Amino acid sequence: MFVRVALDHPLPTLFDYRCEADAAPHPGTLVSVPFGKRRVVGLVCEVTVHSDVPEDRLRAVDSVCTACPPLSAQWLELAAFAADYYQRGLGEVALPALPQALRDASRWARLLAPEERYRLLPAGRSALPDALPPRATALRRLADELAGAEFLSAADARALHPKAVATLDAWQANGWVALEVIEAGGVLARSGPAPMETPGDPHESTSPSADAPNGHAQACATLPTLTDEQSTAVDAIHAAQGFAPFLLHGVTGSGKTEVYLRALAALLEADSTAQALVLVPEINLTPQFEAAFRARFAALDDYAIVTLHSGLAEGERARNWLAAHTGRARIVLGTRLAVLASLPRLAIICVDEEHDPAYKQQEGLRYSARDLAIWRAKQLGIPVVLGSATPSLESWWQADQGRYKRLTLARRAVADAVLPSVKLIDLEDERRRGRASVEGISGPLLTALKARLERGEQSLVFLNRRGYAPQLACDACGWVAGCPRCSAYVVLHKPERALRCHHCGWESRIPRACPECGNVDIAPLGRGTQRVEETLAKLVPGARVLRIDADSTRRKGSAQALFSDVHAGEVDILVGTQMVAKGHDFRRVSLVGVLNADTALFSHDFRASERLFAQLMQVSGRAGRAGLPGEVLVQTRYPRHALYHALARHDYIGFANATLAERRDAHLPPFVYQAMLRAEGRTLEAALAFLQQAAAALHEIPAAERVTVYDAVPLTIVKVMHVHRAQLLIESASRAALQTTLRAWPPMLRGLKGVLRWSIEVDPLDI
Ligand code: ADP
Ligand code: ZN
Ligand code: ZN
Repeated sequence: MFVRVALDHPLPTLFDYRCEADAAPHPGTLVSVPFGKRRVVGLVCEVTVHSDVPEDRLRAVDSVCTACPPLSAQWLELAAFAADYYQRGLGEVALPALPQALRDASRWARLLAPEERYRLLPAGRSALPDALPPRATALRRLADELAGAEFLSAADARALHPKAVATLDAWQANGWVALEVIEAGGVLARSGPAPMETPGDPHESTSPSADAPNGHAQACATLPTLTDEQSTAVDAIHAAQGFAPFLLHGVTGSGKTEVYLRALAALLEADSTAQALVLVPEINLTPQFEAAFRARFAALDDYAIVTLHSGLAEGERARNWLAAHTGRARIVLGTRLAVLASLPRLAIICVDEEHDPAYKQQEGLRYSARDLAIWRAKQLGIPVVLGSATPSLESWWQADQGRYKRLTLARRAVADAVLPSVKLIDLEDERRRGRASVEGISGPLLTALKARLERGEQSLVFLNRRGYAPQLACDACGWVAGCPRCSAYVVLHKPERALRCHHCGWESRIPRACPECGNVDIAPLGRGTQRVEETLAKLVPGARVLRIDADSTRRKGSAQALFSDVHAGEVDILVGTQMVAKGHDFRRVSLVGVLNADTALFSHDFRASERLFAQLMQVSGRAGRAGLPGEVLVQTRYPRHALYHALARHDYIGFANATLAERRDAHLPPFVYQAMLRAEGRTLEAALAFLQQAAAALHEIPAAERVTVYDAVPLTIVKVMHVHRAQLLIESASRAALQTTLRAWPPMLRGLKGVLRWSIEVDPLDI
C-alpha cells in the first residue's frame, strides 16, 4: 500500500510513501516521513495501491500519529480550496494551519499525557508583588507570566526557569496559586478551590458560577432585553436554513455581541454537539469576548469554550486546537488563524468587525479569514454572520445584490446612549485667527480635554503612528536618519532611546550630532504617540495619561493590564493607535480627539479612504457608550472633505454608496478581481525584469485574454533588508478567467530566474 502525503514544501505535489497494508493510515492522518536527510510531519491525503514513483526511490512512513484523530474529508477539502484559490501547495496550507506541537513527531506522545497547569488565585495576585525580593528577576518574570495569562502550564513554566515548578509548588502551599491536572481528553482534576459546576443547558445563563478561580465566569443574573432591532436580527438568524450569509450592519455600541450570543445559544441548545466559531480581528479583543461568552455560557465547562490565537503558549494552543478537533470545544473564539481550525460539528460562524484588514494574512498563505469563513459556511450549509459598523465595500456590495441578507442595528443598545457628536477643527482657520496649535494639539481640543478631566470623565486621543517622531532631521544640511538596510526613514523612540526601523527592526542609539555636518541641533520631525503622550502630560497638568500601542504592550499580558486600568478609571487620557480604536467597550470615555488623519486622504492606494473612514467611525464609536454624551473632535486641514462630512453625519451608507459608485466608474474592486505578483531581487532592475518576463508569459495562457496586466512597479518602500521589491498587478472582470490564469502561471514562473523570491497574492488589500 502507498500513501500520498502533503508536506510543507513549495512544490505543489503530494509525496508517495510505502506503508504496511494492514496499517495504512486513513486520509487526514498525520505521519512522520523521511524527506531528504530530515524527518518531517506530513498529512496523508490519499491511500492507494499504486504509485508512479520507482520502487527503489520509495521510502516508508516512519510513524503514524495516534494522538490526533484524522482530519475530516471536509477539512481536507477546505485546505484544498484555499490552496487552489491562493495559489499554494496543499501542504503549504494544511501543515502551517496545525499547531506546532502536532508538526513535531517527537511531541506526539506528550499530547496525550496529562497536563499540569497553574492558575494565579486572587490571594496570590495581591500578595505576590510585595512578597518577592526586589532583585528576584526570575521570580518576577514567573509572577508576570502567571498574572498575564489565564494559566501557565508546567512545561511553559519550566521553559522560563528550571526551578520554576518548585517555586510554583511553594506558592501553591501558600494558597497563592492553584494546580490543575488535565487528563487526556481534557478532563479537569483540580487541587485548588473548585468552582461550582452547574450542570444544565447552555442557554440557561442565570446559573451562579461566580467563584471560578480565574474570576471571569461572573454570573449574569438576567439576560438583557433585546432591542427591537436586535430581536429582528436574532430571529432572522434563527430562521435561516442551510447556507445563510448575513451582514449585520450595526452602529458602534448597537449590541452586535448580544446578537452573536443569542444566535449561538439557540444553536448550541438545539444540538448538544454543535460547535460555533467566533472570529475577532485583534488578539486584544479576545479577553473581552471570552469573558462575555464564559459568563453567558457558564454552564459549559472550561474546555467547551477555547481561544485560538498566536498569543497562546504552544502547549495551550495544541490543547485548544485538539479540543476543537475532537468536538469537545463547543465555542471557538479566535483571530484569523482560527478560521482554519478543525471543527467537525461546526454550526455557525460569526465574524466580528468583518471589514478589518487584520483578517487578511500578510505573509505566507495570504488568505482572507472572512472570505474563508464564507466558503466554510457554504460548504457546510450553515449561517455566517458578518458584523460591522462599517462593512467592507465588498460585503456591502454583496448585500446590495441580495447575496448577503442585511440586518440593521441603527441605534445604540444601552438606553440613552446616543452616537457622539462629531466636530471638525479647521487647523488652517485656527492658525489664521492666531490660535495656532501647541505641539499639534489645537485650542478647542485642549479645552475639551481639560473639561473632561474636571468632570472626571475619560478622553481618548487617537493617532495612527507609534514612536516619538517619524523622522530625526538636521536643519543645517537636510540629513534625515535613514535605515541602512531599507529605503525608509527610521523612527525616533524616545523612552527606549533608540532609532528604530519599522520595516526591518534595525535599531541604533540616537546620535548627538548630525553625522553629515556635525550640527548638534538635530531635531525630531512630526509626531508619534510617545510625543503626544509627553505633550499631553505637559499641557493638561494633573491628568493621568496612558499610552497604548504596539510598543507599550510588547510584553505578554501587558495590553490586558493597560486596558483594565482604563476600564477601572485609573486613566484620564488614553493615547493610542488603532489598537485602542477597535471594539473595546470603554464605558467612561466621553471625548475622542483625532490627530493627523489627513495623510490618508490623498494616498495612492484606492482603499485608503475606505480604511480611514472605518477607522474614524470605529474610534468615534468609543465615545459616549454608556449614557455620557460623547464628543469627537477631528483636527484637519480639509474640513470640507466629503469623507469628514459623512463621518460627522455618521453616514456610513452615504459614504459606501458614493465610494462604490466611484469604484464602479474606475473599474476597481469589487467590480473587478485582482491579483498581485510580487518579486524580490538583489536589485530593483532584477525584480522588474522578472515581472516583465512574467507579464510576457501571460500571452501563452488563453484565459489571460480577459485579464488586464499593468506595468511592473517598485513598491513604495522599495528596499527592505537590502532586498528590492516590485510588483505586477493583474485584474479581470471575470473571477473564473483570473483563477484559470493564476493556475497556469506558477509553473511558468518557476522556470524564470533572476530573483530571490516571488509570490502571488489573490485579492490583495494593499496596492
Ligand atoms: P457593538 O459591538 O455593536 O459596538 P457591544 O456589543 O459592545 O456593541 O454592546 C455595547 C454595549 O451595549 C455593551 O455594554 C452591551 O452590554 C450593551 N448592550 C447590548 N445589548 C443590550 C441590550 N439589549 N440592552 C442593554 N444593553 C445592551
Ligand atoms: Zn547636518
Ligand atoms: Zn530597515
